[in-house]
Amino acid sequence: QKKHKVTVVGSGNWGSAIAKIVAENTRANPSLFESDVQMWVFEEEYTVPKESKHYDPGSSLCNKPQKLTKLINDLHENLKYLPDVPLPENLIANPSLEDSVKDSTILIFNLPHQFIAKVCDGLRGKIVPFARGISCIKGVDVSERGIQLFSESIGSKLGIYCGALSGANIASEVAQEKYSETTIAYDPPPMDSTQPTPEGSRQGSPQASQVDLIAPHKESGSRSTRLRSLPADYPPLTHANIKKLLHRPYFHVRMVSDVAGVSLGGALKNIVALAAGFVEGLGWGDNAKAAVMRVGILEQVKFGKKFFADTVRTATFTEESCGVADMITSCSGGRNFRCAKMSVERGVSINEVEKTELNGQSLQGISTTYDVNNFLKSKGMENEFPLFTAVYNILEGNAKPQDIPDLIEPKDFD
Ligand code: NAD
Ligand code: 13P
Repeated sequence: QKKHKVTVVGSGNWGSAIAKIVAENTRANPSLFESDVQMWVFEEEYTVPKESKHYDPGSSLCNKPQKLTKLINDLHENLKYLPDVPLPENLIANPSLEDSVKDSTILIFNLPHQFIAKVCDGLRGKIVPFARGISCIKGVDVSERGIQLFSESIGSKLGIYCGALSGANIASEVAQEKYSETTIAYDPPPMDSTQPTPEGSRQGSPQASQVDLIAPHKESGSRSTRLRSLPADYPPLTHANIKKLLHRPYFHVRMVSDVAGVSLGGALKNIVALAAGFVEGLGWGDNAKAAVMRVGILEQVKFGKKFFADTVRTATFTEESCGVADMITSCSGGRNFRCAKMSVERGVSINEVEKTELNGQSLQGISTTYDVNNFLKSKGMENEFPLFTAVYNILEGNAKPQDIPDLIEPKDFD
């Protein structure tokens, strides 16, 4: 029996936290996974800060800037993006995209969404053809052809099946092993060996060595891809085995099959978190924030039902960690929320706050607001999503945070 080799593509705040979990689990499940986990790092130079516990003025590592990969591999810590969290020694930082995915049968995509297209271009033809992916990216891929989930665009660009992981998961809390839940949606066609299909997945398709990858939903306009089956000498990627790769005592995984619901929950809540930050920045109270979150959940469900009707389930938004729970945590302590709040308090743009406060980390809410607005505009549906549209207009300077109550008030009964 072969073992799965795992690569985490990305090494930011969440990328490093997920890589830590994965490396802990590959070590704990030696019959399923190779212990060593590769983590692709977008290489940069970094100087060990004086306040780091690793700082030693006599050490050659500390007296000049070093490659981030060297620091991670020598110190087993990502000093820049996840400081003060020890990383397992079987997690290996690799600056070469091609080398990091060599022979890997499981690829976990975890990087800010604006970089994914270029990374997929670099991976095309370099990955194991029967690899499987899980996208931890919170965003939507909007182009002139329509809207796609990142799991779909990764899947169609690379010719692999890709599921999605999303939840109420502020990375620093997860990395410090504070209890969290997450939701993983994994629903490939039932062709991955003779073992039982993942619970809740499609049943009854014939076993085959190559089948059409589930065609991306109609809004994306892109073609379906051919999917290669997982050879029978690999452990099947059932829900149970996927869970063994990502569940920890402090990080509880619930497996579902609604990839669209899981992905949209994580993407759209970032728009709502900006609105929550705006009202908080005005000094308005928890009631204001709760009102914004209520409307945000309604717009998430409506968006899913309108544009991903074939597969999306309302319960994914209302009952799972990737839905209501992520809305609550992101509107309480997420970066989008915190930066939006500071932008109102300081009277500066949110991009300015991102630059000064996040040390290279990346806000996803701004670009998602623009992506979603572009898409809604193309459909003539901006008015049907008043909160998403209000956030867009505030970012554009066409409206003020103070206008939010009026902008989201239903007009039907006036
Ligand atoms: P981050 O915000 O820490 O972003 C920094 C990362 O981007 C670094 O790894 C950096 O090397 C990389 N980067 C910079 N320029 C690049 C380039 N040109 N090409 C490729 N990479 C480049 O990233 P993150 O927090 O790991 O977020 C990844 C995804 O996870 C996002 O979609 C985010 O919404 C989601 N997420 C984040 C958190 C969190 O708490 N941080 C929690 C859940 C989900
Ligand atoms: P931010 O990117 O706003 O920090 O959100 C983190 C998150 O997605 C928590 O689940």
